[in-house]
Amino acid sequence: MLENVMEFFRNLPPKKCVTCGEKMEEQAEAYGTKCDKCNASH
Ligand SMILES: [Zn+2]
Repeated sequence: MLENVMEFFRNLPPKKCVTCGEKMEEQAEAYGTKCDKCNASH
């Protein structure tokens, strides 16, 4: 069961910022769907 979940995440495409389309690092997950730059603009 857990292995299936791991496999699912491994197959996901890289996250992209919804605002500028920039590829985001995994560590940016805490910011949601925006990259550092767009997140800082608020
Ligand atoms: Zn962005």
